[in-house]
Amino acid sequence: MADRSGNKNVSVIGLGEMGAALARVLLANGFSVTGWNRSAEKAERLKSEGLQFAATVLEAVTASPVVIACVSDYPTLTALLHGGDVAPAMSGKTLIQLTTRTPAEARSGAAWAEAANVACLEGAIQAYPMHIGTAEGSVLYSGSRTTFEAVRPILNALTGQVIHVGEQVGSAAALDFALAGTVVPGATMAFLQGAAICKAEGAPLDTFLAMIESSVIPGLLLSTLRASVPMIESHTYAYSGGGAPLDAWVPGLQMTLQAARDAGINPRWNEFVLEHLQRAVADGHGQGELAAIFEQLRQPAT
Ligand code: NAP
Repeated sequence: MADRSGNKNVSVIGLGEMGAALARVLLANGFSVTGWNRSAEKAERLKSEGLQFAATVLEAVTASPVVIACVSDYPTLTALLHGGDVAPAMSGKTLIQLTTRTPAEARSGAAWAEAANVACLEGAIQAYPMHIGTAEGSVLYSGSRTTFEAVRPILNALTGQVIHVGEQVGSAAALDFALAGTVVPGATMAFLQGAAICKAEGAPLDTFLAMIESSVIPGLLLSTLRASVPMIESHTYAYSGGGAPLDAWVPGLQMTLQAARDAGINPRWNEFVLEHLQRAVADGHGQGELAAIFEQLRQPAT
């Protein structure tokens, strides 16, 4: 498999846990891979799998028309690629940028790329290294659709799910922080707080998990989330029946907080949630849906 132009040479900058997984799957898919890593010893196994190890970043980027970067953070990335002899050597190449960075950093990187004549695709990996090269692995990409299509065969080798989220360059990073940075740890925190209530009261954790899988996620949760998107877009949160308005949620959450206090566990998570519901009611959304809390979250804290 090659990119649209038939190129099979790809360079990978950064061979840590994730960069090594990316390089390995490219090698397994018949690409000719040149890699660079600050700590050369980490590349030993990859060398035995066919990786050409470059002594310098300049040597690595010179070897291929497509460069994948996956280092720890954006300051490291800029120090490696944006200066010295490397920036001129990047001219005319495609950069698939997979280092985690903020939307602002992604925009700054795109501005550098444009000035340096580099076609840049910003990617946000939604997977662990073990998912690279599998159907479960996914990467969100933002930036030029033309660039995305040009390197699509390379992207298809990296993960089963290859998703272009738009040409606005910060979108992949924003979705990354919304998903991996917010929903995953937030939902896990909610799960753990529920587990603390169950454990304190002797309720079975296996039933707690089974209920989340069989009814809470497909029923209560997904219906709430799906209804929230059009409400957020239109800023109208009126309760439409079939569920529960905030006025009905508040007494239940007051009792949940009391139950957490009675159980002797840390009640701060429940206090935080109840406080937001009560504020939404005070703002006139008592007969509105849970999504009305979005109006508080989209503004700076008061
Ligand atoms: P890692 O194993 O710690 O590797 C970090 C890489 O950055 C290594 O190649 C390291 O080189 C390099 N590096 C750090 N500081 C450097 C410096 N000053 N100069 C040159 N190179 C430097 O981390 P990782 O898991 O591969 O993560 C890489 C990127 O993927 C991160 O942005 C991370 O957020 C993202 N990511 C990771 C996962 C995951 O599950 N691992 C999931 C999604 C996204 P040395 O080997 O010499 O230290």
